[in-house]
Amino acid sequence: MGKTYVLLGPPGAGKGTMADMLVKDYGFVHISTGDILRQHIKTGSELGRRAKDYIDAGNLVPDEVVAALVAAKLAEPEVQAQGCLLDGYPRTVHQADLLQQALRENSLTLDAAVLFEVDDELLLKRLTARRICRECGAVYNVLYNPPQAAGVCDDCGGALYQRSDDSAETAQERLRVYQRQTAPLIEYYQSRGKLRRVSGAGGKDDNYQALNKVLGL
Ligand code: AMP
Repeated sequence: MGKTYVLLGPPGAGKGTMADMLVKDYGFVHISTGDILRQHIKTGSELGRRAKDYIDAGNLVPDEVVAALVAAKLAEPEVQAQGCLLDGYPRTVHQADLLQQALRENSLTLDAAVLFEVDDELLLKRLTARRICRECGAVYNVLYNPPQAAGVCDDCGGALYQRSDDSAETAQERLRVYQRQTAPLIEYYQSRGKLRRVSGAGGKDDNYQALNKVLGL
């Protein structure tokens, strides 16, 4: 049976980047609630319409909405076989309780919650400099990991865009929301013996090496 990990940490800590690398090397199923919600917005679904205002304001989408998305993913057979990375979920203590329930219902157990530690100044720099390929979703950073040609994806030639919630103002609000609503999860997983800490402050290869070590992969 595959392993189940929660990737915990503030926006901009590199959870998505690390998840992509782990998926490539080990075949985990990547469950990113942010990605799923953005997909709903893109296709114009009812759920996407409901989520959009929360996301644009830097606030959290209601717990029950995201919990239902995750529960549906956890029931997929690949999760049992390949394990999964929960990226950006849970983000509140209530979501963490709902996750425990959903894992139990699918005969899964949480192996660890990995906390990516990065200070706020670097997070803001990273978030506001982040650019994403409209075609393939590849993530760049105009300061630390720029594309070869400005505004163009190295991998597929697609146009790069900035997420609307990566503006300086909304990014700051997301960090405040993280401190208020998500940071209590550090104690939640610590007290259950599940917390592992890793630096997310270095370059992506160094961070990835440290992460593999922490997870014993
Ligand atoms: P992310 O891509 O993880 O940075 O998420 C982008 C936005 O989607 C967040 O700022 C929230 O508005 C929303 N979102 C993603 N995951 C969750 C979650 N677990 N709970 C509530 N809202 C979420």
